[in-house]
Amino acid sequence: MKVVLDKLTKVFPPRGGKGDAVTAVKDFSFEIPDGKLVALLGPSGCGKSTILNMICGLERPTEGKIIFGEDDVTQVNPELRGVGMVFQNYALYPHMSVYNNIIFPLGNLKGEEKLTKEQMREKAEKVAALVQIENLLERKPKELSGGQQQRVAIARALIKTPRLLLMDEPLSNLDARLRLQTREEIRRIQRETGVTTVFVTHDQEEAMSISDMIVVMKDGELHQFGKPQEVYDDPANLFVAKFLGTPAINVFEGSVKGEKLYIGDDCVLDVPGVKDCDVTVGIRPEGFTYDANGSFKCKLDRIEVMGRDISIVSKNDKCEAPVVRSIIDSDMRPDEDSDIVSFNLRPGKVHLFDAGTGARIRFGKENK
Ligand code: ATP
Repeated sequence: MKVVLDKLTKVFPPRGGKGDAVTAVKDFSFEIPDGKLVALLGPSGCGKSTILNMICGLERPTEGKIIFGEDDVTQVNPELRGVGMVFQNYALYPHMSVYNNIIFPLGNLKGEEKLTKEQMREKAEKVAALVQIENLLERKPKELSGGQQQRVAIARALIKTPRLLLMDEPLSNLDARLRLQTREEIRRIQRETGVTTVFVTHDQEEAMSISDMIVVMKDGELHQFGKPQEVYDDPANLFVAKFLGTPAINVFEGSVKGEKLYIGDDCVLDVPGVKDCDVTVGIRPEGFTYDANGSFKCKLDRIEVMGRDISIVSKNDKCEAPVVRSIIDSDMRPDEDSDIVSFNLRPGKVHLFDAGTGARIRFGKENK
């Protein structure tokens, strides 16, 4: 089922009539395609959970509409929306067995929808097999690992065959190894069931690896929506460019003169079509090539071996961060004893932004 969020705004009134109202989400529109996994990505407090809560009906939008398929569900109660929810803290009932936790949502079914015990067992066994916990059904939640508890929560969310699955930071309570494993599991389960899924996270790597599409947001506003690779390769603005990628994009003060880009005194790139102005320059770590005669000069700090590639850590006065991180092929190793390291830049990995607003400035082929 496709889901459309149409100009959603959520304003929380001042608590007890004191202080300011909080606009948690502003004029937020996007369409979640049927059967896809979409990650809502942004820093803490940017409005991700508020959007999820509006989609499932726990919060009503101040303005705007929510459409499931062809139905406007903006005023529909949560229990009638057909949405499965998975939370960061699993929210399992500690006194109930795994089995009873999983079938809990079926207890609310009434009239013709009411299921017999055998039908419930059949459904529970099917979802338990899907999330691979069939041998744990008689245990209590405290007898399970964090990853297993999250699988129970996912099984419970899936048992009523939801039209939409919402996951709010589902991996945050897991250790690094389990996080990786569970995120692959979530991807597999989502593919197998084909259920449209919204996944909230502040971890860009998690969002990039798990989702079909990502929505990058900040301060309640949508900054970019697209396939992970597209958003990484073609960021709409400086915020998006900085939020995606590990190591992070390197950011420099620069200027354009006569369609040439300067960082300090170094003329580092041709930027056809850009008028003379001050710019912020973003260079991805893979945007540098080592060349003893290269035009962009930095002070060599150290070289870190990463296997096939090496990471050259250097310094430059115009860089926003204390060090510049570049990743280059290990065959092209600079002399470790030299003070200066010189690079050329790959145009496709260099992005220009307005020095004031952070809006993207396109150059050369990007303009076409
Ligand atoms: P996190 O990643 O930390 O969970 P988030 O991106 O999910 O953050 P939200 O929880 O949606 O962010 O909160 C967005 C903004 O709305 C924050 O400034 C928060 O303080 C505010 N907010 C959330 N719920 C309420 C509420 N019930 N009353 C007032 N303000 C609220």
